[in-house]
Amino acid sequence: MHLKDEVKYVKGVGPNRAELLKKLEIRTLGDLITYYPREYEDRSKPKKIAECVDGEEVLIEAVAMHRLSEARIRRNMTIYKLVVRDDSGVCQITWFNQSYLKNKFEIGKTYRFFGKVSNHFGKIEMNSPVFDSENSNKNTGKIIPIYPLTYQLSQNVLRQIIENGIKIAGTLEESLPEYLVKEQKLMERNEAIHKIHFPGNMEDIEQARYRLAFEELLGMQLALLSLKNQYTQEQEGIAFPKEIKMSDVIDQLPFHLTNAQRKVLEEIDHDMESDKSMNRLLQGDVGSGKTVVSIIAAYKAVKSGYQVAIMAPTAILASQHLESFQGILEPFGIRCELLIGSVTKKKKEELLERLKQGEIDILIGTHALLEENVVFQNLGLVVTDEQHRFGVRQRSTIASKGNHPDVLVMTATPIPRTLALILYGDLDISIIDELPPNRKKIETYAVTPELEDRLNVFVKKQIELGRQAYIVCPLVEENEEIAAKSVIELAEKYKKEVFSEYRVEYIHGKMRPKEKDQIMQEFKDGKIQILVSTTVIEVGVNVPNASIMIIQNAERFGLAQLHQLRGRVGRGEYQSYCILKYESHSKVVKERMKIMQQTNDGFIIAEKDLELRGSGEFFGTRQHGLPEFKIANLFEDLPILKKVQAIAARIEKEDPQLKLEKNAKLKALVQEKFQDRIEI
Ligand code: ADP
Ligand code: MG
Repeated sequence: MHLKDEVKYVKGVGPNRAELLKKLEIRTLGDLITYYPREYEDRSKPKKIAECVDGEEVLIEAVAMHRLSEARIRRNMTIYKLVVRDDSGVCQITWFNQSYLKNKFEIGKTYRFFGKVSNHFGKIEMNSPVFDSENSNKNTGKIIPIYPLTYQLSQNVLRQIIENGIKIAGTLEESLPEYLVKEQKLMERNEAIHKIHFPGNMEDIEQARYRLAFEELLGMQLALLSLKNQYTQEQEGIAFPKEIKMSDVIDQLPFHLTNAQRKVLEEIDHDMESDKSMNRLLQGDVGSGKTVVSIIAAYKAVKSGYQVAIMAPTAILASQHLESFQGILEPFGIRCELLIGSVTKKKKEELLERLKQGEIDILIGTHALLEENVVFQNLGLVVTDEQHRFGVRQRSTIASKGNHPDVLVMTATPIPRTLALILYGDLDISIIDELPPNRKKIETYAVTPELEDRLNVFVKKQIELGRQAYIVCPLVEENEEIAAKSVIELAEKYKKEVFSEYRVEYIHGKMRPKEKDQIMQEFKDGKIQILVSTTVIEVGVNVPNASIMIIQNAERFGLAQLHQLRGRVGRGEYQSYCILKYESHSKVVKERMKIMQQTNDGFIIAEKDLELRGSGEFFGTRQHGLPEFKIANLFEDLPILKKVQAIAARIEKEDPQLKLEKNAKLKALVQEKFQDRIEI
């Protein structure tokens, strides 16, 4: 049978089961045999009865001492008991309603049982185990795979179907080039697929997993590299002239750039001057000074005779950027304008006309920039801020408004470097790993509800000193409506009770942009002391006078998000505080709170977040247009990933188009598995 054939032709799969398998995304024989186990149960080594620990799942090998007893205790409930022994002790085994067990056991014969034991002061019992007679090993005597999801299929049935599938598939062809298998001492594919499902021992599992994860990660790495090649080879970009010096604007800044900012600007300047298109990701923690970097790059582009587009995820952020850009660039005669949803029709038409005529140098805005009627005269540089909010497709839509403009993508989500290489494998990466000097460390406290009163006193003290506070409520199940409601309720409560002497306002995602901007502006101007909000303020907002960030139900946020929120304070000269309110006794939650208190380093937090939540949740894979892995795990398999990256780079250098005969299998791998799944 061919791997592409439908799974219904496998023995044991009728129309019903085929439907169930479909829910597991298993449609073909190939899907079936690559539906890998989530974990394994070692049912290969029997334990002495006397050594069984209460609550553990164990295998025992024991002799039946009596016949199976049967007791009907009420209608529909019959209990079967069997007493067995080995040379260490006695165990009583119980099943419920399993009439097929009658006549299965003979006195004096040996059986293996696998199940959960209880041990109460030496009285050992086992409930509803699976079992085998001495010379069978259907359910025991080996390592048993446990599959991730089965819907109404039982583990036993799925295991049997997969076993049938593997049999009928015959010997599987190798999918990696022989030279790689040899050089990397990899298990052959055929063996790996057999052993991942039916391992003889733990070592088998490890080697098989390694081999399969290696293949998966290598395929993806090569696919990403080939994407990157497409950009750089096909796209003759703009060579911005050397004569336009970034230092002209740098010298006019009210502060000195950090070394990290300088280094990053050198990289950007180099890209801009090269005749290839820049495709660069700029990573830096909140407040590390990315915006300034983009302003300097924009200066160079404009002075070279090009227009610049700056795209931000929210209207608030875009407006704030406008201020920053104007502040620095207007003295140089550079014209900046804002295009967001709330701009009136008339004003918009006028804006678009001037844009087309080249009378606007820098257009800053939201998704509104992507609309078809936004036409530049000569777009040379595109900056997208907070990239994780935009899809890859949007990035290229905006770039297509120019003739291969340079592209700079900025993100404040710190991603461990190796992972960034995957997520943004098609981009070059620059990192600002240093904060501007004299930043005070934000003090972070995790508090439980008993401390509420003390917390309120503390907040009042800060407000009396002239400071302002944010209070953030979590999004409940991604539902903006409910979140808005909880924000309003909380704000009303504070207004009426605890903070009645101050001005308390709220802001949430369901409000009209105009209202939001209005409130934000008043908060910036210091007219509002306490701002209750959903996570809409998460991104980029800059109010230097705000010194307190209170996060409600902090246990519901991921670490990376908490860190983002915390970055809203500590932007001015004042000592700032982040208060994490939480209600949970879970160990993981406590661990997360501890990490937040211990460090302000976004990269450390990102790594911890990844570790505590796993890569799936961290990235929300879909959001990033990344292929989902069948076996590789971006966190646990980091060592494999590093190795694979080096190998992919080597292969790509020698044979960028994968044209060589020896790499034919790699080419097939890239095409088959990834090409259509990466969104460009
Ligand atoms: P990011 O965009 O990375 O969150 P910003 O560019 O908004 O950070 O910078 C945060 C604040 O720090 C801004 O007010 C900015 O003017 C200021 N800033 C940026 N670079 C420096 C620097 N090298 N020295 C002092 N202040 C700086
Ligand atoms: Mg260039």
